[in-house]
Amino acid sequence: MSAVSRRGGMAVLVFDPDDAGYLSELADYVAIPSVSRDAAPEVMRSAAEWLVDQLSFAHGHLVETAGHPVVMGEWLGAEGAPTVLIYGHYDVQPPGDRNEWKSDPFSLTVDGEMMRGRGSTDDKGPVYIVLKVAQAFIDQEGRLPLNVKFLFEGEEEIGSPHLPAFVAEHVALLGADLVISADGAMWRPDEPSLSIGSKGLLSMDLVVTGADGDLHSGRYGGVVANPVHALCEIIAGLHRPDGSVAVAGFYDGIETLSDERRREIAAVSFDEQEFLEGLGLQQ
Ligand SMILES: [Zn+2]
Repeated sequence: MSAVSRRGGMAVLVFDPDDAGYLSELADYVAIPSVSRDAAPEVMRSAAEWLVDQLSFAHGHLVETAGHPVVMGEWLGAEGAPTVLIYGHYDVQPPGDRNEWKSDPFSLTVDGEMMRGRGSTDDKGPVYIVLKVAQAFIDQEGRLPLNVKFLFEGEEEIGSPHLPAFVAEHVALLGADLVISADGAMWRPDEPSLSIGSKGLLSMDLVVTGADGDLHSGRYGGVVANPVHALCEIIAGLHRPDGSVAVAGFYDGIETLSDERRREIAAVSFDEQEFLEGLGLQQ
């Protein structure tokens, strides 16, 4: 069983890890192979509908988009309290080479302290935690302390191609005082974390063309530029030796980190040696 307790000003869900109900329920969700890159639309829809069922306390429903549907829900019974919008996604990355998995990627497997299954950490597990905390709170207290809206999309792993249009069309419905993404990692298992900034992502196709046919290396090498060399030079020119981005204008409008923020970052516990060893790297 789970229960909500209060520590200081915080509500804490006391979670019994042996509660097979939670694990088998999460296993049902992980078992849906909702790989947005290539799954059949009905598979994606079944993952979305699984979430709708979980959102019965918040009028969960599907909203169609030009791609996979968005799952919405809201519980707005805390009059006068702020409204929080929780974001998450129900799609997952492709499992890749099955031979590299120790167990079936779509079968949730508990291995000591490790839980293995595609999407169990990104983002099915984190969304599941949010839903169970809200549900446990309602079961115990009869209400939530805040107004909460839910937005779960099915295309995060392919760059959210239809989310901007969805947001533009539903601005009023999505209005909130604060947006929290339930799509992120904890700093470490015993240290919860709240990320307040994220990196962006940019992709492009760059085509470098050279002569219209293969050139003899002895006759033309060193005379005509090889497109591969030109491409290497362009890519290497994107960064400076210190790792900063060398593209003109890239940092325009970006605030420089204050000393205070640098101190805060430096205060986060981090063992560089352990970090490198965990990646199989030597210092
Ligand atoms: Zn994610």
